[in-house]
Amino acid sequence: MEDHASSNLPGLSAWWMPFTANREFKAAPRLLVSASGMYYTTQDGRQVLDGTAGLWCVNAGHAQPGIVRAIGESVATLDYAPSFQMGHPKAFELAERLVSFSGERFSHAFYTNSGSEAVDTALKIAIAWHRVRGEGTRTRLIGRERGYHGVGFGGMSVGGLASNRKWFGSLLAGVDHLPHTHDLARNAFARGQPRHGAELADELERIVTLHDASTIAAVIVEPVAGSTGVLIPPVGYLERLREICTRHGILLIFDEVITGFGRLGTPLATDFFDVEPDMVTVAKGITNGCVPMGAVLVKSPIHDAFMQGPPGAIELFHGYTYSGHPLACAAALATLDVYEETAAFANAAALSSTWEDAVHALRGQPHVIDVRNLGLIAGIELAPRPGQPGARGMEVFRRAFEKGILVRVTGDTIAMSPPLIIERAQIDRLCSTLAEVLDGIA
Ligand code: PLP
Repeated sequence: MEDHASSNLPGLSAWWMPFTANREFKAAPRLLVSASGMYYTTQDGRQVLDGTAGLWCVNAGHAQPGIVRAIGESVATLDYAPSFQMGHPKAFELAERLVSFSGERFSHAFYTNSGSEAVDTALKIAIAWHRVRGEGTRTRLIGRERGYHGVGFGGMSVGGLASNRKWFGSLLAGVDHLPHTHDLARNAFARGQPRHGAELADELERIVTLHDASTIAAVIVEPVAGSTGVLIPPVGYLERLREICTRHGILLIFDEVITGFGRLGTPLATDFFDVEPDMVTVAKGITNGCVPMGAVLVKSPIHDAFMQGPPGAIELFHGYTYSGHPLACAAALATLDVYEETAAFANAAALSSTWEDAVHALRGQPHVIDVRNLGLIAGIELAPRPGQPGARGMEVFRRAFEKGILVRVTGDTIAMSPPLIIERAQIDRLCSTLAEVLDGIA
């Protein structure tokens, strides 16, 4: 076999890698050089089964020909077009597609380039919306402990992961947090939505009493929290949040950056839970991970409130150089086609009980203290090594990769979210390899 490891290996020093232990990684790098379908190929020529859809984004599987073709044609035809006081047809076409994709629950799309930007955009729209309606005192934002909403100052502030927050000063003022919903004592090894914890949504009433509704603009939560280590919402929890927000005139934002585009077997988690927020943020699966893109989908009363004053006035002073980039729009349109043609969401829905059985079969393996699942998502929580939180999880990740499967870890929780085109035999392989790895570590 060709020695990929020693040939063409670039120097690794100059790239300061994100969310990475740079020194450790560069001493023993894991380099991916190509991808197709359910597999990555590594620099040393090994096939790795993708148990995480890249980073929760390659929902249709890698290198889908229709998407690859659309991107190539797009860059050759219109490499770039400004979106401030200008436009191009595909951006409008995609917005209409996204509205119908959402089952008309939402009426307008605002484009960003990432999930973080989508979150900051949604928070800004929420505050500005109250202001255009004459309720400019509503500026507070409510997030949740253990929430992840990206790395912009808005998303970090409403997010609830101490390691992502503590380095960066005082963050945004006027932010409060709901309690997280993780409850091992009552819900460990729940299949699907856990039974206990809907009452945690009532904490929002306490926060409203403390600050007064007249100061609160919006609540933002992930319908299923991913980056914190997969937390599935308790039965009735999201419904209660919706009721309380409605009662107090507070906007509800679902951050669907990982749940959007079929992860639960439905277009959006909103459809799965049948709970309607006022806005959703999406990214990742919108282009199957091929081109950076995000979006905020809003309901018409939000959009329409801005459409007042002289028609020549800019209604929202916000946007990005690459909002609605032609390549991203072409990729997203082709991605939506591929999702339809391959019936990827129906496959995810049909496989979700097989997935549930397979991941729950890991109960009883060494170190496993919880298994959580919904749609094609799983979290397998391990007991941490005493005094070394995260060490056992990281070892699982490394060994799994050596054995040819890609999983993710957050602390000591292993997260899996494979492309939605996964087959039963591949689910078995993911889980049997994980079982072997767990058997082999201290
Ligand atoms: N929101 C959620 C729920 C996410 O899971 C992520 C990324 O994982 C983000 C926002 C940030 O997205 P990005 O990394 O594209 O900025």
